[in-house]
Amino acid sequence: MSKPVHIIGGGLAGSEAAWQLASRGVAVAVHEMRPERMTDAHQGGRLAELVCSNSFRSDDHETSAIGLLHEEMRRLGSLVMRAADAHRLPAGGALAVDREGFAAAVTGALERHPLVEIVRGEVDGVPPADWDNVIIATGPLTSAPLAEAIAQLTGDNALAFFDAIAPIVHRDSIDFEVIWFQSRYDKAGPAGSGADYINCPLTREQYEAFVDALISGEKVSFREWEASTPYFDGCLPIEIMAERGRETLRHGPMKPVGLTNPRAPETKPHAIVQLRQDNRLGTLFNMVGFQTKLKHAEQVRIFRTIPGLERAEFARLGGLHRNTFLNSPKHLDNLLRLKADPRLRFAGQITGCEGYVESAAVGLFAGRCAAAERLGEEISPPPETTALGALLSHIVGGHIETIDAGPRSFQPMNINFGLFPLLARTPTRDEAGNRLRGSAKTLAKKQALCRRALADLSAWMSGAHFGAAAE
Ligand SMILES: Cc1cc2nc3c(=O)[nH]c(=O)nc-3n(C[C@H](O)[C@H](O)[C@H](O)COP(=O)(O)OP(=O)(O)OC[C@H]3O[C@@H](n4cnc5c(N)ncnc54)[C@H](O)[C@@H]3O)c2cc1C
Repeated sequence: MSKPVHIIGGGLAGSEAAWQLASRGVAVAVHEMRPERMTDAHQGGRLAELVCSNSFRSDDHETSAIGLLHEEMRRLGSLVMRAADAHRLPAGGALAVDREGFAAAVTGALERHPLVEIVRGEVDGVPPADWDNVIIATGPLTSAPLAEAIAQLTGDNALAFFDAIAPIVHRDSIDFEVIWFQSRYDKAGPAGSGADYINCPLTREQYEAFVDALISGEKVSFREWEASTPYFDGCLPIEIMAERGRETLRHGPMKPVGLTNPRAPETKPHAIVQLRQDNRLGTLFNMVGFQTKLKHAEQVRIFRTIPGLERAEFARLGGLHRNTFLNSPKHLDNLLRLKADPRLRFAGQITGCEGYVESAAVGLFAGRCAAAERLGEEISPPPETTALGALLSHIVGGHIETIDAGPRSFQPMNINFGLFPLLARTPTRDEAGNRLRGSAKTLAKKQALCRRALADLSAWMSGAHFGAAAE
């Protein structure tokens, strides 16, 4: 038998990757440090343990990006989705699972598979040289010795130990009658045009009310074991800035200098919120310097008081967490291999996706890539129009790196429709020929994106570079 592919970490991503490999007839060794060595969040020794909520979120594959990802994974033979479906609990349109039954099903399926060996123990450094095909799927709580080894291998602050997430807004929900495009002092920078930022102007009254709302807004507290992480280097949450002084934000991310509102050139805004293009497709804009620990509902309420964002739809809300993740767009190729050492492939949350399902999905693709490599086959990523392809594209290239001070610009993201390329034709009429408006139009657009995704997934699966399973 040929040498096994080694997977480090038997969480959501590692378990799915192992299943994909074994299903293709490739031997695999899964190295899991629990229960010998625990993380701060896991409770037991089973593989694929859900560390917090038991929800896989919406299961609607006709109108929801995460539901679509579920469906794509089912079609790709996902073990995680099979176990979730077998252990689902009543939860309306969401897919909630019995966490014990789910983890037991994943663990059992892998333990029983003749091509899978589960090795208990921590991998505490760069994998040995004779491991020629490795998937690192050690997640947001990667153990310290391995994290240090990866950091040394990649250099250049490639590995972050916490995320500092600023909200991201769908471009088509911004009021273009209020905002204007301009870079501070019209500076073009290396890749810009001088009009790269969306600017939202605030009057003194609006700014004062905004600061009050930030200070009084409900916040999420750090978990006990997160509190000692050095979060605040260069990325203070905005509410902490507001607490430090009422003018602090006006001298920080909301400073109104170097910008002129073309609709009122004589009136100097008291403060300005800037948004910057976040993805290559130009569908998403992030709120510059707005990392926050405010509760999600509070963020939506407070940020919608910003002129121009009254109807903002958020692709991602802000947060700060302990999280180990790579600057993947810079360090991974499109088959998730580390450019500095291509025998090492990364999967799961450590690549910069967010969430159980997303982590498993990246594990699925990593497993298929590693199998194709072992079997001497070609594989290419799924089209960006699929949920899996859109997610992978965010990880390895869809995000636009920026030059602003503060936290690193690549931050983890859940799957969302803002990551998908625009439709060639947005539906404007329903089947009866009536003009679509408002929420009906939004719904029709989501349905069209889902239909396109599943059609393109089928085409990819029947193509030559898919790495098909021999089940
Ligand atoms: C506290 C917390 C709460 C979260 N809550 C949610 C939530 O409610 N919903 C959601 O969708 N997502 C949540 N996430 C985000 C994330 O999706 C999950 O953490 C998900 O489990 C990530 O999958 P993964 O496979 O990348 O990592 P994990 O599932 O964490 O798997 C990584 C595995 O690697 C093992 N490991 C680590 N280092 C080593 C080593 N050196 N050698 C061997 N084994 C090692 C770990 O023990 C673990 O089993 C949460 C994350 C955290 C940290």
